[in-house]
Parts: sequence; C-alpha cells; structure tokens
Amino acid sequence: MVSKIHKEARQEEGKAELKVESDEEEVEICREALENAEKALENAEKKAKESNDELEKKKKWRKTVQKRFLFVAKIAAEEDNSDLDHTEESCKVCFEKFGEDDCQKAAIIPCGHQACFGFLSSLPQKSCPTCRAEFTDDKILKLFP
Ligand SMILES: [Zn+2]
Ligand SMILES: [Zn+2]
Repeated sequence: MVSKIHKEARQEEGKAELKVESDEEEVEICREALENAEKALENAEKKAKESNDELEKKKKWRKTVQKRFLFVAKIAAEEDNSDLDHTEESCKVCFEKFGEDDCQKAAIIPCGHQACFGFLSSLPQKSCPTCRAEFTDDKILKLFP
C-alpha cells in the first residue's frame, strides 16, 4: 500500500515534470513566435520607412522639377518681354531696376522718359538724362504711390 502510494506519487511527479517540460517548450515556441513577429514588424517598419524615403525623394524631385520648370518659364517670359518691359522696369540713367528705395522708384518727366525719382529730383539742372529736354521739379511725375 505504501509502495503503491509512493509509486503513484512518483508517477504524479513524473507527469508534473513532463508538464513543466511541455510548458517550457510552449514558452519557447511562444518566444520564437514573438521574436519572429518582432522581426516581421521590424522588417515592415523598415520597408515602410524605405518607401517613405522613396516618397520623400520623389516629392523632392518633383519640387526640383517644378522649380526648374518655373525658372525656365520665368526666363522665357523675361526674354519675351525684354523688348517691351525693359524701359519700364529699369532706370535709363543708372540701369538699375526700380526698387523700393525712393531714389530708385520710377518717375516720368514731360518728355516721356523715365528715371529714378531720387535721381531726377536731385539733378542740379533739370534736363532729361535721355533727351536733355528741360523740366521742373513739379513736373516730375511719380510712378508710385
Ligand atoms: Zn536710376
Ligand atoms: Zn527725355
């Protein structure tokens, strides 16, 4: 009887050991699965990042192309208008483009010529720098507000 109980106890022990082993195995399997899942996730993230980088590159490239296109279009437009606009955009005297500065803002005089307002109003002898037609201070017409 005692030996039977003993035997049963041993059997139970053995079963328990087996269970622990199989549990450990399961844990191991789970860990592997988890590792695989983590790796897969890592790969997926990497791929996502790569495709994102690719997208960024494409976006940048598109911007560059657009900028280049605008630049070329602007040059073409400037070339188209160069004959027409030249006199209106830059001063006949200093050849600077009319700007924000008062002395570089466009003004027109009765002869029809344009120059910087600052330049025209600072002339000691008021005569057109282009055609020498005489004018007076109050005849300088500002082409700006
Ligand atoms: Zn000028
Ligand atoms: Zn003139």
